[in-house]
Order: sequence, then structure tokens, then C-alpha cells
Amino acid sequence: MNALLPTQFSSNITSLIGGKASSPSGHQLPVFYPATGQQIATLHEADADEVDQAVKAARRAFDTTDWARLPVEKRQELLLAIQAKIIAHADELARLECLNLGVSMRELRERHVKRAAYNFRFFAEYIGQTKGDVYDQTTGYRSVVVREPVGVAALIAPWNAPTALASMKVAACIAFGNTCVLKPSEQTPLALRCFVDLLHEAGVPDGVVNIVNGRGSVTGEALVNHPGVDRISFTGGTETGRRIMSQAGLRLKPCTLELGGKSANIVFASADLDRALDAALVSIYSNNGQQCLAGSRILLEKSIADDFIGRFVERAAKIRIGDPMLDETELGPLASSGHRDRVLSFADIAVGEGAELLTGGKAASLSGDLAGGYFVEPTAVFAKSNSSRVCQDEIFGPFAAFLTFDSYEEAIGMANDTQFGLVSYLWSDHLPTVEAASRDLKSGVVWVNTTMTRELRAPFGGYKDSGVGREGGEASEQFYTEIKTVTTPTRPITVKKIGISD
Ligand code: NAD
Repeated sequence: MNALLPTQFSSNITSLIGGKASSPSGHQLPVFYPATGQQIATLHEADADEVDQAVKAARRAFDTTDWARLPVEKRQELLLAIQAKIIAHADELARLECLNLGVSMRELRERHVKRAAYNFRFFAEYIGQTKGDVYDQTTGYRSVVVREPVGVAALIAPWNAPTALASMKVAACIAFGNTCVLKPSEQTPLALRCFVDLLHEAGVPDGVVNIVNGRGSVTGEALVNHPGVDRISFTGGTETGRRIMSQAGLRLKPCTLELGGKSANIVFASADLDRALDAALVSIYSNNGQQCLAGSRILLEKSIADDFIGRFVERAAKIRIGDPMLDETELGPLASSGHRDRVLSFADIAVGEGAELLTGGKAASLSGDLAGGYFVEPTAVFAKSNSSRVCQDEIFGPFAAFLTFDSYEEAIGMANDTQFGLVSYLWSDHLPTVEAASRDLKSGVVWVNTTMTRELRAPFGGYKDSGVGREGGEASEQFYTEIKTVTTPTRPITVKKIGISD
């Protein structure tokens, strides 16, 4: 096991405040390697006092240093230096993430860490192109609308893609001149702790990015309720999002919420079916099935269903389950034993609801060190109806539910019949179908004949219970800046005189 750990690895995970690592103290939580079930580190939880110190450090960096007013060229240089630093440490970050999450090294290197580095490049380029508005229609006056950094942001991240998702929040937040306190999931603190060290090595001044580790109920709550926080950016479960928004509302703090999903992957008979099949497998089984944007409900036009499902099941059964450190592995373990048990419970729920179990539905048993890992076979069921729990609950694992439809209206009706509305996948080469469905689907993103292509310039976020607000490009600019109107006369003005009567 120790051979798997990076040389610099510290098994005591603490917080980092004002550029200084906290000393290990406070409540301790075990951190596990999901592929073996072994404890690999201990997290030392930040309590309300430590959270207070972190917010104050961020406040000081914002209010008393030149950080918020740094010239744009300097900020761009720093963001590009961070990108370079992440690329130089890509293996280390991927390995730490793998140890915490069990997603394969290959997927982590090629998707997560690459994306983390690109997030900083993207915002470096973006801030070189921002613009304001000028209004001069009021005769004799010019009003200039400018954007300014807001202050201190609380950035709260989930466990399913810690570095990829948290880096997006940090990059956007600091690109617009803010400071922040980042709170990773208590399950996956390893890579983000290293990531924050790398930011400092790249030149981020002390206090600009602070990190507090601990449970949501302790560290997260203290952060959300801290009066020194000006913005809250949260990615996680829908119920947690509800609670955070209500707490933020009491303090009138704007928040963005990126929440759960139960996305429809609709395949019409007019689609390129080979490509749709490849994509259906990737959309549900990549990231070990643990992704908000998983295509977890696969809706098939009836005429193609038997063949499509037959080929899907054959491929799913051949997915290589195993050691996430090996490049050939396609499906690693789930992130925790509790989560594995929850995902597996849906196989019983499905059967109880009258669904047909097509493949999987069991823990995958591996040998040697991996015998204690939280592996689940790639699972697929044919659901009895869209109202069943396997079609409505976010399972968040390698678990696909198939449904069939006879008409366009039935397909769109089922796709939209969910509390969620994060993304939809649409497969058809018939242009009128594509145009109509792109319009009719109720989700923040519609991916047409493609899978999970994130365009950072475009807003990302969900309809309905999948979220509030958006991230990316202009949406991030609006969230992380205050807007100010400065009105100036363009010629000498006469001001009405009062208080001059005898
Ligand atoms: P979660 O809601 O349990 O936890 C997310 C984060 O919030 C963690 O850091 C947790 O410690 C913290 N937290 C929990 N309770 C809190 C509280 N009361 N106050 C403050 N912080 C609190 O979610 P999770 O299990 O870590 O992540 C899985 C969920 O995230 C899934 O529902 C998934 O769909 C969603 N997700 C959404 C997106 C998106 O972009 N829409 C992306 C990834 C994951």
C-alpha cells in the first residue's frame, strides 16, 4: 500500500489558513482507499473557531492587501502559473485523487486533472476580454457600469470529482479578485489539500485561498453561517443545497447550487446507433457511475430497443473492473462502503418494483488487496415505468435504467417527468427531431449526438431541483463580481441651491 502513496504524502490532513497548515488537532475522521478499504489518512476536522480564522484570513487578504486591485496582466500571469503547476504535478494529484475516490488513474489524468489545469487557463483568458457598459442617453451625463470583486466566497465541493469541480470554483473566484475558503468533502480531502499547496507554490498570496476540512454538519455549517462570507458556491446533493440556500437566505448571501440529476439519454431510431451505444455506456459507467450528469435513464425508441439493450448488456458485462491505479481498468470501486451498500440496495428495489435485472446488481468480488474494496458490477435494469424509484431517485452509481417509447411526445414526456433537470442526451440524425427536442427538454444542458462535452464559455447548471444559478464564463463573472454604476456629468452642471434664504 505504502508504495502507492506519493513521497510527500502526509497521513494527517489538516486545514490551511493564511498560508499556514493547521496543526493536527480536533475531531478525527478516517480517510479510506476505496479499492482496498484500508484507512490511508486521518482528517483533523476544522471546528467553528478554525472556520472563523479562515474567513478572517480571507477577509484580511481581500481588505488589506492589493490582491483585489491587482492589474489584470499580473492576475493572468498567476493563473497561468497555476495551470503550469498543476500540469507539472498531474501524476501526484491524480494519484491522491485515485487513493481517495477510486476512479481510474487514466480517467483522473485525462479528464479531471487536465480540466483542473484548463480551468485556470480559461479564466486567465476570460478576464483579458471582459467589458463594461456605458450609457450616455441622459443628456450631459455618462454612466459607466463596472464590475468589482465581491469579497470572500465559501466554496463547498462534493466527493465525486473533487479537483475538477473545486478548481473551477477557485479559478473563477480568484480570477475576479476575490478570496475564498474552500471546503472539500470530508471523504475526499487528499488531492485538494495538495492542490491548495500547489497554488501557494505558484504564487497565490497567503490568505487568498484557504482550505478547511471536516464534515458538512460541523465545518460546512460554520462556513455557510459565517457573517464574513459574501458568496456561497455549492456543488453537492439536492437536500444539502436546500438547507444551504435557506441559511444563505437569512443572511441575504447569493449562492449558486449545482445539485443532483437523473438525466435522460434519449435514443431515436434515426440515430447513429453504434455511436449512441458507445456514448450510453460512457455516460453511465465513467467516473465509476458517480456523476451528477450521468445518463442514468436510457430511453429507447421501441423498434431499436431489443438490439440496443442486447449489445449494451454484452458490453457492460465486459467492462474491466479492478485496480484503479492500472491504466486498463475501466471501472473502479465506489467511493465508500456506505455508498456501495446504497447503490446495491437499488437492485432489490428495482426487482421489488417489477423491473427486469439485465446485468450486474451485485458487489464485484476481487482478490488479494482488492478483496476489501467497494466494487459493484456494472448494472442495468429494464424498468417497469418512469415513475419507479430506479427512474426517479439519483442512484449515483454504475446503474442504468432502460425505458422504451413509441412516439416523440412520449419520449419527451418521460424525459421531463423528473424532479431534476441538469442535462439531457439526445441521439438522432433527423434534424426536425433534434430541433424540437432541444427546445422541449427541460434541462440546463442538452447534449445532441455527443456525450459530456463541457463548454466552459457557456453556462452550466440545472433546471428544477438540479440547481440554482450557473457556472462558466459570463455566469461566473456575474456571480463573483458586484456591479456598480458610476455617473459623471460631461459638462459643468448647475446644482439647485437650497438653504440660502435669509
Ligand atoms: P453532499 O451534499 O452530501 O455534500 C457536498 C458537500 O457539502 C460536502 O463537502 C459536504 O461536507 C458539504 N455539506 C454537507 N452538509 C452541509 C451543510 N449542512 N452545510 C454546509 N456544507 C455541507 O453531496 P455529496 O454526496 O458530496 O455529492 C454527491 C452529490 O453532488 C450528488 O447529488 C451529485 O449529483 C451532486 N453533484 C452535482 C454536480 C453538478 O454540477 N450539478 C456535480 C457533482 C456532484
